[in-house]
Amino acid sequence: MEIGDAIPCRCPKCRSTDLTLFEQFTVCDVIAVKGGKMADRHAGEFPELTGRVWGECANPACRHRWQFRRSPVMAAFRAGT
Ligand SMILES: [Zn+2]
Repeated sequence: MEIGDAIPCRCPKCRSTDLTLFEQFTVCDVIAVKGGKMADRHAGEFPELTGRVWGECANPACRHRWQFRRSPVMAAFRAGT
């Protein structure tokens, strides 16, 4: 997906289509151990989607926050955008 692609979502409270999506991932901190001592460390590796997506309405008079039942990001991805 790229900037300008359509994402099918709107605020369920005020119907605004200006909002922020929070797509949740889990990540691993990877720690290499050699001879019983930490030899290397990489943070935030192997991101995996949890499937949970939150929205926050950008309308200053609303600011509603909610969790999507189905990811609008995945819906847009499947639509071929
Ligand atoms: Zn709203």
